[in-house]
Amino acid sequence: MPIQANVDLHHFNTFHVSARSRWFAEVATVEALREVLAWHKGKDIPLMLLGQGSNILFRENYPGLIIELAIKGITVQQSTESSVLVQAMGGEIWHPFVTHCLKQGWYGLENLSLIPGTVGAAPVQNIGAYGVELKDLLHEVQALEIASGNMKTFTNDDCGFSYRSSVFKEDLREQYIITDVTFSLSSKPRLNLEYPALQQALSDVPRESITPQLVSDKVCEIRRSKLPDPDMLGNAGSFFWNPRIGQDRFAELKALYPDLPGYAEGNSVKIPAAWLIEKAGWKGYRDGDVGVHERHALVLVNHGGATGAELVALSERIQASVAEKFGIQLWPEVRIV
Ligand SMILES: Cc1cc2nc3c(=O)[nH]c(=O)nc-3n(C[C@H](O)[C@H](O)[C@H](O)COP(=O)(O)OP(=O)(O)OC[C@H]3O[C@@H](n4cnc5c(N)ncnc54)[C@H](O)[C@@H]3O)c2cc1C
Repeated sequence: MPIQANVDLHHFNTFHVSARSRWFAEVATVEALREVLAWHKGKDIPLMLLGQGSNILFRENYPGLIIELAIKGITVQQSTESSVLVQAMGGEIWHPFVTHCLKQGWYGLENLSLIPGTVGAAPVQNIGAYGVELKDLLHEVQALEIASGNMKTFTNDDCGFSYRSSVFKEDLREQYIITDVTFSLSSKPRLNLEYPALQQALSDVPRESITPQLVSDKVCEIRRSKLPDPDMLGNAGSFFWNPRIGQDRFAELKALYPDLPGYAEGNSVKIPAAWLIEKAGWKGYRDGDVGVHERHALVLVNHGGATGAELVALSERIQASVAEKFGIQLWPEVRIV
C-alpha cells in the first residue's frame, strides 16, 4: 500500500507554503481508498482529504494522514433530447472537466470555468462564480463515510448548500469522502449572463452570437485579468467570506461611508469583504514574503518564502483592523490546518 512518511506539502497547496504531513497517500481507486482507511483505523491520528490544496492553508506540519484523492473517470448516466446526467469522479480536475463538458455539448458549467481544484472538493464549499453556484447544477453526490466505510448518496437537498458552504463543511465536516458527483446539465445552451462583469465583457457581442464556449472564454479572460495565477504567485483565491450584516447596521455604516456597497439577501445585506479590506488600507500591502494582492484585496499572497503561520498572522491583523474600523467580523473561507 503506497503510504509515504513525512511528505513535503509544498506542491500540494496553491499557497505553496512548506509543511510536512506525517503520512500521505494518493489513491486512484475506491478499493485503494478503502485499504488506506483500513490502515488508518485504530491509529490515533487525524485524517484529512486533499484535492489540489487550493482552499487550504497549512499553518504547521500535519500530524496525521493526508489522502489525496486521484480517482478519475467521467460517464454519462442518462440522457434525453434536452438534458444529460454526467457523473465525474472526485479526482477529476475541475476546469478540464468543464472544458470536456462544453466539447461534448453538455452545458451549464461555463460560468464556473477556471476555478482551481477537484470535482470532489467542489461540493464542499459549493463553488461559485459569475452568477452560478455548483448547487444550481448538482444532481447528487456519492460519499464514503469514514467511520463505517459505507457509501451514501446525497441528493442536492441533502447537501445543505449555502453561500460557499455545505453539510460537508459544517455538520458532516471531515466525516465523508466525496468519491463522485453527478451533474444535471443541458444539451441545449442555457446561458446565465446576469453577472455585471460578464454582461460588460459581452456587451459588444449580439445576443444570438453568444455561445456557452464564448461565455467560458470570457470568464477565463476576466479571471486571468483579475486573479493571480497560483503557479506564479502563491494564493488560495478569496481568503475571507463576504460578511452579512443586518439592514439597520448597514444603514448606519452607509451614513458614514456613502460608497459602501451592499447586496440585499433576505433580512441581511452582503458586503464585499474586498471593499472593507481595501478601505482599511491593506490592498497591495507587503511585509517580507506575505502580502495582499495589488489588484484584489481579498487575495492574500505568498511572494515566495512565506510560512503558513505568517500568512495566518497577516489574516488575523486584517480581521482585527476591519473589526476595529467597521465593527464587522471577517471569517476565513480558506481552511486553516
Ligand atoms: C486563484 C484561485 C481562485 C479561486 N476562485 C474561486 C471561485 O471563483 N469560487 C470558489 O468557490 N472558489 C474559488 N477558489 C477556491 C477553490 O478553488 C475551491 O474551494 C475548490 O473547490 C478547492 O478544490 P481543491 O481540490 O483544491 O480542494 P482542497 O483545497 O484540497 O480542499 C478543500 C476542502 O475540501 C476537502 N476535500 C477535498 N476533497 C474532498 C473530497 N473528495 N471529499 C471530502 N472533502 C474533500 C478538504 O479536506 C478541504 O477541507 C479559488 C482558489 C484559487 C487558488
